[in-house]
Amino acid sequence: MIHYFDNNATTAMDGELAWLLATLHTQDYANPNATHALGVKARKLLEQARERVAECFCVEPDEIFFTSGATESINWILRSSLHFAGNRNRVVTTSIEHKAVLNTLKDLKNTTDLEFVQVEPERDGIVKPEKLLSKIDEKTFLISLMAVNNVTGAIQPFRDLSKTLRRKGVLYHVDAVQTIGKLPFLPGEVGCDFASFSAHKFHGPKGVGITYVRAKSSLKPLLTGGGQEKGMRSGTENVPAVVAASFALKKAYETMPEVTERLKTYRESIKLEVEKLGGLINSPDDSIVNTLNVSFEGIKSEVLANALSGEGVFVGISSACSARQSADRYVLASMGLGPARISSAIRISMSRFTNSEDVAILIEKLKKSVSLLKF
Ligand code: PLP
Repeated sequence: MIHYFDNNATTAMDGELAWLLATLHTQDYANPNATHALGVKARKLLEQARERVAECFCVEPDEIFFTSGATESINWILRSSLHFAGNRNRVVTTSIEHKAVLNTLKDLKNTTDLEFVQVEPERDGIVKPEKLLSKIDEKTFLISLMAVNNVTGAIQPFRDLSKTLRRKGVLYHVDAVQTIGKLPFLPGEVGCDFASFSAHKFHGPKGVGITYVRAKSSLKPLLTGGGQEKGMRSGTENVPAVVAASFALKKAYETMPEVTERLKTYRESIKLEVEKLGGLINSPDDSIVNTLNVSFEGIKSEVLANALSGEGVFVGISSACSARQSADRYVLASMGLGPARISSAIRISMSRFTNSEDVAILIEKLKKSVSLLKF
């Protein structure tokens, strides 16, 4: 049996939607740019998917663009907004953003005159809004802030910035990848100009990104070619995956009240057991409901994760020791956690599909593995 607790990395695709995806690929596979009846049908399915997404977000369909994933959406937004920045060249962001943001900004810094500042979080992993706003100067054209940190689940003050940013004429991008199905995210309420999402984080297919672009915002295409997505993202549209993604989003919004209540209870019981076992909690008390980052000092993350994996329980790690996962280490370091705590951190992340049996088994196997590995 698989007991999967690595949902911030990716989620299992919803079975019904996987079936829909396969059906669309075999029956409604026409190119939506074709003028024959099958093409017209595919175009209709694509535009209905856009409307479905827009309805979930309470925005207009022409504010929604489909990409290959949040990484592409983020690249597009950051690279394109620099193009329209005029004589401004500064971006304010945080030191705990996903590498899709940080490495894109680094690349722009190396290849253009762009500068960026990274605001550090407090010890709890949350960045203070006044700290972010204090970094804005007359050269700043964009703030890029994640809504929820993928490593700790810390909810950032993404609702508190838009008024000041509008007044100062600073664009606002929110990396909202970790919000869907876990907290209500409506771009209009948040007041952002851009937001990025990945369907595989909410039981949709891999390879679909959703980009929200506020009407009238200027963007230039990242990919040029056949002029799809209103000339903003060329390439034949992946209609089956986009349709499945739109239904995944709808389900995530519809099930959110029940799911968040349930996951909150699970998180509390896991937290209690972790503390009883001598574990330290790295996530803030009011982190997003599905995520708990914890350390058992003295037991290396990968050793514990491997022991759990052998028992059919799958968690994420944020250790420096594994090249594949080292990307996450900087988040805990930014919070001021010491090496012993960082090298022993594991991330437990749940989803709508997590059930009480999964949680009971996680706790049982944690108890077993921690007591074995401690000595
Ligand atoms: N932003 C955050 C907060 C993430 O957690 C991730 C993925 O883990 C990304 C961006 C990038 O998403 P993707 O790999 O789907 O492009």
